[in-house]
Amino acid sequence: SHPETGGGTSPEKLLAPVLSSFWDEPRSWTLETYRRHEGYEGLRKALAMTPDDLIAYVKDSGLRGRGGAGFPTGMKWQFIPQGDGKPHYLVVNADESEPGTCKDIPLLFANPHSLIEGMIIACYAIRSEHAFIYLRGETVPVLRRLHEAVREAYAAGYLGKDIDGTGRNLDITVHAGAGAYICGEETALLDSLEGRRGQPRLRPPFPAVEGLYACPTVVNNVESIASVPAILNKGKDWFKSMGTEKSPGFTLYSLSGHVVGPGQYEAPLGITLRQLLDMSGGMRPGHRLKFWTPGGSSTPMFTDEHLDVPLDYEGVGAAGSMLGTKALQCFDETTCVVRAVTRWTEFYAHESCGKCTPCREGTYWLVQLLRDIEAGNGVMSDLDKLNDIADNINGKSFCALGDGAASPIFSSLKYFREEYEQHITGKGCPFDPRKSTLWA
Ligand code: NAD
Ligand code: SF4
Repeated sequence: SHPETGGGTSPEKLLAPVLSSFWDEPRSWTLETYRRHEGYEGLRKALAMTPDDLIAYVKDSGLRGRGGAGFPTGMKWQFIPQGDGKPHYLVVNADESEPGTCKDIPLLFANPHSLIEGMIIACYAIRSEHAFIYLRGETVPVLRRLHEAVREAYAAGYLGKDIDGTGRNLDITVHAGAGAYICGEETALLDSLEGRRGQPRLRPPFPAVEGLYACPTVVNNVESIASVPAILNKGKDWFKSMGTEKSPGFTLYSLSGHVVGPGQYEAPLGITLRQLLDMSGGMRPGHRLKFWTPGGSSTPMFTDEHLDVPLDYEGVGAAGSMLGTKALQCFDETTCVVRAVTRWTEFYAHESCGKCTPCREGTYWLVQLLRDIEAGNGVMSDLDKLNDIADNINGKSFCALGDGAASPIFSSLKYFREEYEQHITGKGCPFDPRKSTLWA
């Protein structure tokens, strides 16, 4: 079938529904439904191990952080010092905000108990008695659902004091943030959780050494923790049978943009965008893929030349981008690259926390230049200026937000410099309906 409009690969061959396997069932979010699908079986198996063996097991499974960076989850748990006499904390980062990323919120909405079970397992492993879920505050229906799921878990005896007479204690606190992108950065999140203005802290010390209330803290993404029960229940070899050697397992991809079937697709790591488009119906009829992001706007964009790049940490990395949050935003030939990059850069300028100069000032000036170019008021030297400002942000900022803001500038200039030049020589946007023949 056509590579850019889809309709080829059989979904059964690619889809690996684990977390999403019963999302379409009525009342999928309840404890009763979750138990019918082997819910809390992973916990039973985890509790039969020692905490150290459990950490080794998760490490051996090869599970890598699903928040974007792909850091090995078991290794992060192992960093927590033992016998230090301090409280240990687990903090789940549910502040999903990367443009195009929409996997954790649907997961929490449809299947919150997979996260709660994973949290109980993780807390047992790292010897923590208090865990937090830091949720993006605008998602009020998800907040309600999470509160209800936590209440159910307390009532069923999975949480509380002296659980099952074992002497184990565990409380889960659900905290709603106030809608700042920077609070998804793990140390800004911790500051916000402590009641301060959310701004990144210097790392090291990493949270594993000095995190919440200056105590050892594991900060994990929702999907990472929610994947743990299935690994325990079905086994690490089952998990490793999917994906690639260095990026094993299943994962949730967020597909959006000019596609026939936007949504969440759960499939092994290492599949390609071509395969995902094929099984989801492809680009909208009559149009072709122009550019896309592998992991939201913070990851350098790709073009139709990259349709066969494996979506794992190695494949995407080798091709010059990052897997990030696996947010596949697809744009067809009717989209103006300059407009898209301007819109993304406006987002970064708005969300920049202002702590460091390269990002605070740089994102502001990028927006001014991009708006000028888009409006037909640019000059050719602006393109070098864009590159120069992005270069002064990238690697010179305090946190990853700055690097993320620079990446669409670099990649759009690399692949679509001509389109920038057309805006300058033609004194405006060639995609503007008043000037373009595209819309005729
Ligand atoms: P990072 O690579 O610096 O760190 C990843 C994780 O590993 C962190 O939890 C960190 O504490 C831990 N870590 C790394 N080195 C360590 C060490 N030596 N000792 C102990 N722990 C260590 O990445 P980051 O800056 O935390 O995150 C960047 C990623 O976030 C990007 O890949 C981006 O895709 C992603 N992101 C996600 C969203 C979202 O909405 N989910 C939004 C923006 C960015
Ligand atoms: Fe704040 Fe941007 Fe600096 Fe990060 S890079 S600390 S968001 S100003």
